[in-house]
Amino acid sequence: MNFTATQRERLLELGCPKAETDRNFLDAGTRNKTFALLEKQFARETKERIRSLFSGERQPSLSVLRERLSAELIKNGFTRVETPTVISKEFLRRMSLDSEHPLNNQVFWIDANRCLRPMLAPNLYYISKSLLNVCEKPLRVFEIGSCFRKDSSGAAHMEEFTMLNLAEWGTELEARQSRIRELAALVMKASGIADYAFETEESTVYGETLDVMCGGLELGSSSMGPHPLDAAWGITDSWVGIGFGLERLLAAREKNGTIRAYGRSITYLDGSALNVK
Ligand code: ATP
Ligand code: MG
Repeated sequence: MNFTATQRERLLELGCPKAETDRNFLDAGTRNKTFALLEKQFARETKERIRSLFSGERQPSLSVLRERLSAELIKNGFTRVETPTVISKEFLRRMSLDSEHPLNNQVFWIDANRCLRPMLAPNLYYISKSLLNVCEKPLRVFEIGSCFRKDSSGAAHMEEFTMLNLAEWGTELEARQSRIRELAALVMKASGIADYAFETEESTVYGETLDVMCGGLELGSSSMGPHPLDAAWGITDSWVGIGFGLERLLAAREKNGTIRAYGRSITYLDGSALNVK
C-alpha cells in the first residue's frame, strides 16, 4: 500500500522528493510510522529554511531572480520599464483576443472595459511605439511583473504569476532566430538552468513560436516580427521577443514540481510551506 492522498500531499508540501512519496508499504502501521518520521524531518528542514531567511542569510528566490535577471538584461543593453497592471479591452482586441479567442475566457475583467493584464506584451507594444520615435535602434526593453489568468490550476499554472517579457526592436531580419536563442541563453544562465531545449509551438496569439522547455515544462515562449499583430500598434520594425514565467524558472532550477511555492503567496514563503510549528 501507498501513503494516503492527504499524507502524500503533506509530504510534497513540505518539500519531500516525489520518489519518497511513491513508496510502498506492507501494512498501514509501517506506513503511518514512516509518514510521521518523514513529516517530522521535512517540517524541521522547512523551519530551518524559513529561519535562515529571517537571519538575513538570503532573500526569497523570486526577489533574487527578479533582480538578477534585471541586472543581467541591463548589462546587455536593455532598459527596464514598469507599466500598469490594469489594461483596456481595446489593448486585448489589438492582441487579437476577441470573444472567440481561447485566452479570452481566462481574463479577469474589472468592468466592461478594463481587465487585469494576462500578458505584458500590449503595454510593451504601446510604449515601444513612442520610444521608437525618440530612441535609436536597436531598442531593447523589458518588464517584470504580475500577470493574471483565470482557470489556472495544477502544478504549472497560477492565477497570478510573474512574467518577464523582453523585446528588441530593430533586430536584423536574418539574425532573429539566433538572437532569440542568444537572449534565451542569457536568461537561462542568469536563472541557473542548464538543461533546457527549444521547441517549435503553435501559439494562439502569435502563430508559430519557439518555446524554451525544461523537462516537459514550458519556461518561455518567443516570437518575432514583422508580425501580423504589429499593424494594430503602428509598428513596422523587425523585432524579437520572449516571455518567461519566473515561478516556472524557479521550479525548474530547484527541480521542485510545484510553481505555487515560489509565487506570490500567504501559505508559502520562498518554496517553504508556512503551516509548520
Ligand atoms: P501554457 O501553454 O504552459 O499554459 P502559455 O503558452 O499559455 O503557457 P505564454 O502566453 O506563452 O504561456 O506565456 C509566457 C510564459 O509565461 C509561459 O512560458 C510560462 O512560463 C508563463 N506562464 C503562462 N501562464 C502561466 C500561469 N498561469 N502560471 C504561471 N506561469 C505562466
Ligand atoms: Mg507559450
